[in-house]
Amino acid sequence: MKTETDEIAAVAEWLEQAGQVTALTGAGISTESGIPDFRGPNGLWTKDPAAQGRATIQHYMASREARVDAWRMRSEHPSRTVDPNAGHAALAELERKGRLHTLITQNIDSLHQRAGSSAGKIIEIHGTLRDVVCMSCGERGPMEAALERVGAGEDDPPCTACGGVLKSATISFGQPLVPEILERAQTAASACDVLLAIGTSLSVFPAAYLPQRALQAGARLVIVNAEPTRYDGRSHAVLRGPISRTLASLVALV
Ligand code: NAD
Repeated sequence: MKTETDEIAAVAEWLEQAGQVTALTGAGISTESGIPDFRGPNGLWTKDPAAQGRATIQHYMASREARVDAWRMRSEHPSRTVDPNAGHAALAELERKGRLHTLITQNIDSLHQRAGSSAGKIIEIHGTLRDVVCMSCGERGPMEAALERVGAGEDDPPCTACGGVLKSATISFGQPLVPEILERAQTAASACDVLLAIGTSLSVFPAAYLPQRALQAGARLVIVNAEPTRYDGRSHAVLRGPISRTLASLVALV
């Protein structure tokens, strides 16, 4: 039977031989930085299943109370205070080694950028907490400016251009993805020789179709995740160890 060390060595070889490598990351890569995921053992929704219903765009638009709550959570969001971990650093290193073509992330926390991955390589398919956007006129602005208004007493700050509802520039449940961004992600999944799916339960669609695209195009699929995913049976390797340690060992061999 293959040990995890053998598996990691085999994956490192695939990364070296590949013409193009794409990574798809999810909330699991940031848990070791202190940002809880949704569906892991300590996930926000594992602990409070009703929270999923409160995370929809419909609820946000319909309820002032939901927005006030959301602004409070944004002010306290751990991504404002925590640091990237060795997993994020390993992906930045893989890029520096010329072995990572595209980094698709479902995360909204900017930790890949802060770890040194190039903005041009990153596709944030679920948006970002760095900005806010008006749901009426589409005006965008920095999150920090909106949070300053919250701190000064506006508990649900409206758009300064049109008075519409402001929201973080993230994709909420029930909200469509930005078509051009999804298309870029799909192209990167179809064009790669190896897709690394890291820290994602692969249960949020359409992001969870990306491994399917890669497999259909003949790529190797490598899952780096502590818990089983729907793709484990079709993947070429599954690495179950903690992400930071696993990625650091893997990238050191490339
Ligand atoms: P998920 O919560 O559905 O799944 C995370 C997976 O990562 C779980 O299967 C868990 O077992 C695994 N995991 C967690 N920590 C790990 C570790 N240290 N080592 C190995 N495995 C680990 O996350 P998802 O698939 O990304 O879907 C959730 C959605 O919510 C996404 O859109 C995501 O972007 C968003 N979200 C983002 C953040 C963030 O930006 N940091 C945090 C929570 C949720």
